[in-house]
Amino acid sequence: ILHNTLVELRGNIRVHCRVRPVLPFDVGQGSVSAIGPLNTEEVVQVVNDDKVVVNCTRVGSPGLSKMFEFERVHGPEDSQDVVFEEVKPLLTSLLDGYNVCIMAYGQTGSGKTHTMIGSQAEDPSGPQREAQHGIIPKAAAELFRLISEKPVDSHTVEVSVVEVYNNEVLDLLAKEEDGVALGAKRDVITTSTGTSEVPSLSYLLVRSAADVMQLISSVLRLRARCPTLVHRDSSRSHLIVTLTVSSKSPNALALARRLQSIKKDMLRKEQKEWWSPRCRRANPTARQSGDERSTSSSSSPYHSPSHSPIHSSCPSPRDSITPAPFRTKLQLVDLAGSECVGMSGVTGAALWETSCINRSLSALSDVLGALAEHRPHVPYRNSKLTHLLQDAIGGDAKLLIMLCVSPTQKYMTESLQSLGFGTRAR
Ligand code: ADP
Ligand code: MG
Repeated sequence: ILHNTLVELRGNIRVHCRVRPVLPFDVGQGSVSAIGPLNTEEVVQVVNDDKVVVNCTRVGSPGLSKMFEFERVHGPEDSQDVVFEEVKPLLTSLLDGYNVCIMAYGQTGSGKTHTMIGSQAEDPSGPQREAQHGIIPKAAAELFRLISEKPVDSHTVEVSVVEVYNNEVLDLLAKEEDGVALGAKRDVITTSTGTSEVPSLSYLLVRSAADVMQLISSVLRLRARCPTLVHRDSSRSHLIVTLTVSSKSPNALALARRLQSIKKDMLRKEQKEWWSPRCRRANPTARQSGDERSTSSSSSPYHSPSHSPIHSSCPSPRDSITPAPFRTKLQLVDLAGSECVGMSGVTGAALWETSCINRSLSALSDVLGALAEHRPHVPYRNSKLTHLLQDAIGGDAKLLIMLCVSPTQKYMTESLQSLGFGTRAR
């Protein structure tokens, strides 16, 4: 039973890879670089639907090429629509009671923001052609389309937008009029039921995909002008957009899943007690102290009154009388650039920034590694990034990692690193 539970806890992790086209700026970079024209050569090639090969021949290792296999590989000619087709079923899962996370991983310039947000959407003044929209606007559109097929007012959707920078969670929807500036720092806590939560985080109710896009465009615009955030490059932070869906009338599958998750929580708690001698001491105060922060936080003023733990709450006597509202969350993540920035010669703030990115991405890799190996302890709390994403990575949540890769020789080391990251996560 234990083994099966652990296998289940690994959850559902899929890795897709998207190789972007060679772009004019790649060619420009090649011609001015000291390495010469070589570095504009396309070394990453899509073999078929699920394989990609990196041809390393030209860098002193003749004949060497490395093949990588993923659930799906997209080539340079694949449109935003084609990429989204593979993502679409996750929206149905969301309404069926699963937490879902979609994240883009790759070096700066590899197409993460293009994939998640879309190139036009980044520039709100530009024409917002739907075909150019990335996963976030398309997912929002699909979610509202699915909801429109349900009884009127049966579902509500709330959005939060945070940035994780220097291992701090910054609330990008915080409003001046609420007495907190844009980018206000927030905490991440683990609730008594084991879910992660951000007390006082701003949530906004949205009624359409257009609402979501307007919000994100205005956040990106504001961020670019915000004095505390403006000094840095957005590719140095992780952007997380969360859509929380509450349902008054979950479907039968979602209800069945809720029961299942309650059962799993109980099993997980039992396992925890079984494994941890501290908990077995039957010292109620010791066990309460772990939950201290979550207990005290429950009285803190949430911007959204409905903000409470996602569906996996343990049954309490009260639960059987008033069931908690049914919630699932979709977390959409544009990660910081994964390039290995050398630490030599970097000092002060830049050194701190670099080491924070390195540590958060390696914490993410550690979490995925622990899940892949079915280890009983998954180190979510080693970084704010993984702590924030805890509910949507592992357990029975569904995670899609979109590896973004530049095709040219110039970025071969970074591409190999990204493909390696994706391989380890599977
Ligand atoms: P990242 O967010 O990983 O730093 P971007 O998404 O900003 O990278 O992409 C860098 C540039 O490449 C942008 O100008 C973007 O529009 C372009 N780009 C990325 N992927 C594609 C693609 N699949 N097709 C066309 N242009 C792309
Ligand atoms: Mg970007």
